[in-house]
Amino acid sequence: MDDSPILVAGHQGLVGSAIVRRLLAGGARQLLLRTRRELDLCRQAEVERFFAEHRPHYVFLAAAKVGGIEANRSQPAQFLRDNLQIQTNVIDAAYRHGTRKLLFLGSSCIYPRLAPQPLTEDCLLTGPLEPTNEWYAIAKIAGLKMCQAYRREFGFDAICAMPTNLYGPGDNFSLTGSHVLPALIRKCHEAKLQHAEAVEVWGTGTPRREFLHVDDLADACVHLMRHYSDEAPINVGWGKDVSIAELARMVAAAVGFEGELRFDGTKPDGTPRKLLDTSRLTRLGWQPNITLQAGIESTYDWYRSHAQALRR
Ligand code: GDP
Repeated sequence: MDDSPILVAGHQGLVGSAIVRRLLAGGARQLLLRTRRELDLCRQAEVERFFAEHRPHYVFLAAAKVGGIEANRSQPAQFLRDNLQIQTNVIDAAYRHGTRKLLFLGSSCIYPRLAPQPLTEDCLLTGPLEPTNEWYAIAKIAGLKMCQAYRREFGFDAICAMPTNLYGPGDNFSLTGSHVLPALIRKCHEAKLQHAEAVEVWGTGTPRREFLHVDDLADACVHLMRHYSDEAPINVGWGKDVSIAELARMVAAAVGFEGELRFDGTKPDGTPRKLLDTSRLTRLGWQPNITLQAGIESTYDWYRSHAQALRR
């Protein structure tokens, strides 16, 4: 892989940038990276031209419209449309222009809201989805099915990784669009600077979530690209979850915010629990490395050194 042209679609995002770091550290020499302005993946003709010209041998499909519970609730059309367009354009062009292998990134929210925990890959489509992010989930399920269908009908080597909630450097720290962990880092940091009494935490604090550092995910993606070729999706997680209240306490401690955590029950909780069963990935010889504690601390360091730029 190191001497082959590799497209990392979405290389400026949380996941794509981590995959680029991991590939460069591993010796990759021909990364194909395009900003959205250079290549709009929602536009089929542009994607077609790009693949015809550059013919990447490997594709990491990390481009997607992503966001937290509020962004998902308020922009259902964009979450459905953009993700369907991006993945359809890229998977089809990759197959038709001779890509040897493609890795598609999904999400743990594809699994039914009340499926038994930890969530195995086999519980896909066995029950209703969590309504706060069903538009995104439906698009991701379609992407997974497209990879399976292209493998069955055309013999295209497309594999699917289903990560749990991710965090790390390069995350979205906006208060309305982000996921919970970066939102809490920012809220606690700003509250500390302003000597505020309290930080508002959405929901009841009881939902449980599993968090994986994005550098661990990137390492898993490269491992799967090298060692896995099958139609079954592979969960990628940390293996343990925490309640949102516990997470808020960990973030407050790492940031040094000593005020009150105030839970706002008028905001949605989302799905009650979302812990992945990762035994399939473990059997493939991969394990995560970065503890939640260490990951929160290093992400907070990253945030502090970029806070000024992020606020602009
Ligand atoms: P989800 O995993 O798809 O539900 O996405 P999120 O990361 O956005 O939310 C996870 C949980 O954290 C939900 O129960 C939210 O209500 C809760 N939460 C608490 N405070 C915040 C916050 O400031 N931002 C976000 N996005 N979620 C929060």
